[in-house]
Amino acid sequence: MSEARRRVPIEPGFFTIPRDSTETPRLLGSRCRACGEHFFPQREICAKCLHLGTDPVLLGPHGSLYTYTYVHFPLFGSKRAEAGGYGVGQVDLPEGPRVQAVLSGGPDDFTIGMAMELELETLRETKQGEDVVIYRFRPAQSGGA
Ligand SMILES: [Zn+2]
Repeated sequence: MSEARRRVPIEPGFFTIPRDSTETPRLLGSRCRACGEHFFPQREICAKCLHLGTDPVLLGPHGSLYTYTYVHFPLFGSKRAEAGGYGVGQVDLPEGPRVQAVLSGGPDDFTIGMAMELELETLRETKQGEDVVIYRFRPAQSGGA
């Protein structure tokens, strides 16, 4: 069962991995201490006011699809050859950042402006039997965030 397997990020510092695989992951962002602007990925210096000093914050897991495309080629690094292609989109988070990410679904599953939800996808496993995961967005189950 996937609950029993340990999940590790493909690269640390970008998203949370809930111990309970039914829980929704969050993105690891930062918020400027001076002007309150949010950023993803995390940064030390504010890109808006140049203040040095930000606090870590959790972002998402919901957003709206700003734009997307569909790549008719297997996802790089995936061992699942049956996956024929994948969506790539930019998702606007309510906190402000626009996040580029892989999308979960087929070429006809997306509409600009639709509600999206963060999830984790297993790319491969390590020799130690851990699942290596990435974050991606899927159309929100409820249709509204
Ligand atoms: Zn700032």
